Amino acid sequence: MPADRLRTVLQRIQNAADAAGRPVPALLAVSKTQPADAVAALAAAGQQAFGENYVQEAAAKRAALAADHPGLQWHLIGHLQSNKAALAAEVFDWVQSVDRDSVIAALARHRAPQRPRLNVLIQVNVEGEPGKGGCPPGAIAGLAERVAAEPRLALRGLMSIPVPHADLEARRPAFARIRALFADLAARHPGVDTLSMGMSDDFPVAIAEGATMVRIGTALFGPRPH
Ligand SMILES: *Cc1c(COP(=O)(O)O)cnc(C)c1O
Repeated sequence: MPADRLRTVLQRIQNAADAAGRPVPALLAVSKTQPADAVAALAAAGQQAFGENYVQEAAAKRAALAADHPGLQWHLIGHLQSNKAALAAEVFDWVQSVDRDSVIAALARHRAPQRPRLNVLIQVNVEGEPGKGGCPPGAIAGLAERVAAEPRLALRGLMSIPVPHADLEARRPAFARIRALFADLAARHPGVDTLSMGMSDDFPVAIAEGATMVRIGTALFGPRPH
């Protein structure tokens, strides 16, 4: 049952935060490839924030759920192609995968003036893993300045997906490094309050290392349909 899975995950998040002596992070329910009725079931159980990897898929779900669940918050967590930025600026409340100047400019240009500002996380590829999204750590400061200068965007923090080492403890140093980068950023930008890291298999480690938002799919919805 979706409500039982949600309760279990929220309890595990709470336990991890308590064990580490850290504040309880927000839960982003990752609903990519899940049908709209699975999202509706979780929304009915009280979950409000959902993460999607594909812009068009999210647009369809948002439209399908708008009438019955008007308060949902949609986050883009997948790679953003420049030619999808206009639609992304319309569909999402948050874009967590900002990693280059061209998407900052496009999101800012297309965010409608009557909407609240679009919340932005800069995605960092902290270990320099080839072929993965995210900017190198040295590029964070410059991208943050660009976001902060855009009146239609709100700079909120960092997102990262560390290398998924089979040994969960081997992921800890990357999480700690991301937290240090986050602390630097927050010291320079007063609105920065969100560190998005940790997924179904490693969120307790990410919470111990300072995550303020965890992105969880499989543990909430079960295996993804394809
Ligand atoms: C799919 C995905 C998740 C969720 O992964 P699970 O292992 O199913 O919890 C989190 N973050 C990103 C960026 C993803 O693409």
